[in-house]
Amino acid sequence: FILWSPFIQVFKKHRYPWIQLAGHQGNFHAGEAGSVLKKLDPREQLCFQRLMADPLKDFVPEYRGDVEKNGETYIQLQDLLASFSHPCVMDVKMGVRTYLEAELEKARRSPTLRKDMYQKMVEVDSNAPTAAEHEQRAVTKPRYMQWRDQMSSSTELGFRVEGIKKTDGSSTKDFKKTKSRENIVDILSSFVANNETIVRKYIKRLKEIMAVQESSEFFRSHEVIGSSLLFVHDAEENVGVWMIDFGKTEKLPSGSSLDHRTQWQEGNREDGYLFGLDSLISILEEVHTG
Ligand code: ATP
Ligand code: MG
Ligand code: MG
Repeated sequence: FILWSPFIQVFKKHRYPWIQLAGHQGNFHAGEAGSVLKKLDPREQLCFQRLMADPLKDFVPEYRGDVEKNGETYIQLQDLLASFSHPCVMDVKMGVRTYLEAELEKARRSPTLRKDMYQKMVEVDSNAPTAAEHEQRAVTKPRYMQWRDQMSSSTELGFRVEGIKKTDGSSTKDFKKTKSRENIVDILSSFVANNETIVRKYIKRLKEIMAVQESSEFFRSHEVIGSSLLFVHDAEENVGVWMIDFGKTEKLPSGSSLDHRTQWQEGNREDGYLFGLDSLISILEEVHTG
């Protein structure tokens, strides 16, 4: 989100422009037709392997094995945009926090001071850092991420919009400070261009996802952090939503489970994913009834 720009990459292997709304541009490449390659992260790869054997399989991109390219290993994923024409795309990051409990612990054990994150913080709000942080001209990573979660809708609503690309080709990135329910209603209304059919289909799909998540062994047994729902629709009113980005999704010790709704307290590992999905659905219902 730091060097953010919506990357419209025209992959030569594809006959359509491919849109990337988050992450570093170098992380993605064209795969075989209908696939994209994402730089392999062992934690994410493990999640995709488990997901292919879980009821959530139908709500994530298909994992098609690994590919070597220029000395790097990539996972090959179904391209979720492939069946749409001129898709509108929205990336919504789910959950009330975007850092793992493990990251918090690590920062406490051996705090790494980040000058770059201090800079980003000051650029947005020069009053955000504490006196000590101003003194050091640096902040820790979880401190920065906590601040971002609080400034956006993550902490209060359990999700935040990361990026949008609309039909007219325009894209928006600046949701860092979008926090209020009213603002999000406006953003979502504009994303669906007030098309009632599309909103209705999105709500239906999200309810299906939620029902499957509530019965999924994978979902129950993982702390799901920094994962997004990718919304895609086009002018023909084709609509889809998928779960993506499992780079920070971690398995709990065996025997432990999460309900994803209980309020987070350090140690309980709750992520607020379903709390966020409840509020997202309720906001879309408000968009629908106008
Ligand atoms: P970050 O952790 O910063 O969010 P990342 O490198 O982990 O980024 P993702 O979040 O997985 O990357 O994906 C970045 C963007 O790429 C998404 O917002 C989406 O626009 C696009 N994208 C990712 N996976 C797919 C897919 N399977 N099909 C189509 N588009 C995808
Ligand atoms: Mg992401
Ligand atoms: Mg990621």
